[in-house]
Amino acid sequence: MSRTWLTVDTDDAHHRPWQQGHPTRSKDPDGLSTARRPSAAWLAGLRRFGDWVKRTGHPVTVFVIEDQLRHPESRDALLTLAEACGEHLTFGSHGSSHRAWGAWPEDSDGLAMAVKSSLEANAEAFGHRAKPWFRAPSGYIAPWMALPLAEAGIMLDSSINPSRLVRRKAGPSRRWTDVAHAMDEAGVVERPWHVHRGWPTCGPALHLPGLAGRARRAWRNLPPVLSVEEVDATVVNDEDVTTVYWHITDHARKKGTWEPPLKST
Ligand SMILES: [Zn+2]
Repeated sequence: MSRTWLTVDTDDAHHRPWQQGHPTRSKDPDGLSTARRPSAAWLAGLRRFGDWVKRTGHPVTVFVIEDQLRHPESRDALLTLAEACGEHLTFGSHGSSHRAWGAWPEDSDGLAMAVKSSLEANAEAFGHRAKPWFRAPSGYIAPWMALPLAEAGIMLDSSINPSRLVRRKAGPSRRWTDVAHAMDEAGVVERPWHVHRGWPTCGPALHLPGLAGRARRAWRNLPPVLSVEEVDATVVNDEDVTTVYWHITDHARKKGTWEPPLKST
């Protein structure tokens, strides 16, 4: 039976593409290091996310930006979350900074180094709950990224948002099928985000006017969420997995009452 894999990204306000990490969209394009003090909204969102996980009992994979483990305050908050939620959480890599590698010219060595470093930081912080899984910052994932990801030890990528609306993020050819093919060739399992009739339903689509209504309806019709015991084996091996994601900071919306629009919660 089909199952739903829940995932979140840990971006803070200073990681957004208009702040850093993108060659043309950012105030600080290079964005090689973004370790800085977490915002109050991020800290509050993280706490409420932890409460939600404990209340629902759902397992969630958290894609962490390495620089957040380098700043004492965000590191502390992430370790507290990991301890409070125990086996419900697994941790993947959301890059070392929030550099949008796929929007830049090809740099295989730079990407492999950054991802290795992020995986090591996760292993040191989260032990056996750190997994060799990757999500590309800002959703930019070009075909050239598949090989360096594999070289860095990544077994699973969840970066493809298979919608025409965002095909500019798929590298120079602007074809998501090229990215999927490159992952397959490199031996990396790809878990694209859930779309509804080609419309995005994850991340910002949950809140953007014109997309939010459809996204919420799509989430209410998702297959049952994976159990804690199923996550490890299923997300890497099973063909029939539906992947959705939201942001930690979403939990600071609506005066802290926002929740992912799942039927079962
Ligand atoms: Zn992100």
